[in-house]
Amino acid sequence: MNEILVAPSFAATTTSRERLALYVHIPFCRTRCTYCAFNTYAGLRARIPAYVQALQREIRLVGAAADHRPGILSIYFGGGTPSQLPVPAVGQIVETCQQAFSLNPEAEISFEVNPGDADAAYFAQLRRAGVSRLSIGMQSANESELRLFARRHTPNDVPQTVRLARQAGFASLNLDLIYGIPGQTLSMWQHSLYYALRCEPDHLSLYSLSFEEGTPLHTWLRQGRVPLPDPDLAADMYDWAADTLQAAGYEHYEISNWARPGHACQHNVHVWRNLPYLGFGAGAHGYAGGVRYETVTNPGAYIARINAQSEPLPFPLSAATAETLPVERREAMADTMILGLRLLEEGVDSAAFRAHFGCSPHEAFGPALQRLQAQGLIEETADGRIRLTRRAYLVANRVFVEFV
Ligand code: SF4
Repeated sequence: MNEILVAPSFAATTTSRERLALYVHIPFCRTRCTYCAFNTYAGLRARIPAYVQALQREIRLVGAAADHRPGILSIYFGGGTPSQLPVPAVGQIVETCQQAFSLNPEAEISFEVNPGDADAAYFAQLRRAGVSRLSIGMQSANESELRLFARRHTPNDVPQTVRLARQAGFASLNLDLIYGIPGQTLSMWQHSLYYALRCEPDHLSLYSLSFEEGTPLHTWLRQGRVPLPDPDLAADMYDWAADTLQAAGYEHYEISNWARPGHACQHNVHVWRNLPYLGFGAGAHGYAGGVRYETVTNPGAYIARINAQSEPLPFPLSAATAETLPVERREAMADTMILGLRLLEEGVDSAAFRAHFGCSPHEAFGPALQRLQAQGLIEETADGRIRLTRRAYLVANRVFVEFV
């Protein structure tokens, strides 16, 4: 059931006139990977047409509840596997976003794809649909690791996918990689990263493997069928990657993300700045109007709820909203610190913080900031930005708990 939104006092400072980013969740995959805990389903392809219609309907209904909207900054198609969508459906969804909210002409439109899943025609049509950035789920260049993860592609599919995407005109490509894998040695990790670098991506996201409850990999770990990765080795992998990518000309702009100049993911930077974004689709999350919310996770339930909705609900909710959490001022300040500190160069701008909340980070979190500074985990720049120090990158959670 939807909770009816009761705007908290802080909501007055996050109005529906603020610039927005849009997240569109596509909860379909051909098969499930063994580490994956995302809201996604295999074997539901038959539901895709009804899902796409429901998505467009939800976007229109939420758009109608918003008053005037200046240009949308970005659309991020995540999943699941967005490339499970027939490409005309992608164009229809982008068009619906444009009509409902009005896209900034420079809007970044990101789309996740698995290696080997899309051909030249698919990429060419994605470009025509307005998609400007691809994020490719490479994960590893080692066959044994891809098998452990039950990925359907081989290492060779990655350069082939990159080549097809470049030929179609994509000027911004990301590769996702995972480290800290059971049985992975430093040289196996080095092989994966060097292999990725030979593809000349514009952006790299490197994630430490996490064993999520309910996944096959978590079960195998509990049963002793796979070894627990050594956290010190995973830290060495991260440090080596950071040095290697810096030497290769990539900016380390977020804890897990590196980009060539001008290629940081604008959508994610917006979210890390704790600015509002809308989430559409089953199991999507959003934050707008002073409320964090989540939609119902089951695609069938999502379609049924949206089809039963006839009128817009208070912005930013839809009939698919399953949970809402009003964000009070103190929590919004903490979120701004925790998310903003993830941005390693930019950090938290004290002047912007004051302009938004009416007090400085030091007035809000003085003792915590003093402790962290004394421990050498944060620093303050001459222009008033608070940032993590390099030694804090691997223990960032120790920093973040100070603001909770
Ligand atoms: S393709 Fe991605 S979303 Fe789908 S199961 Fe694998 S990791 Fe999860």
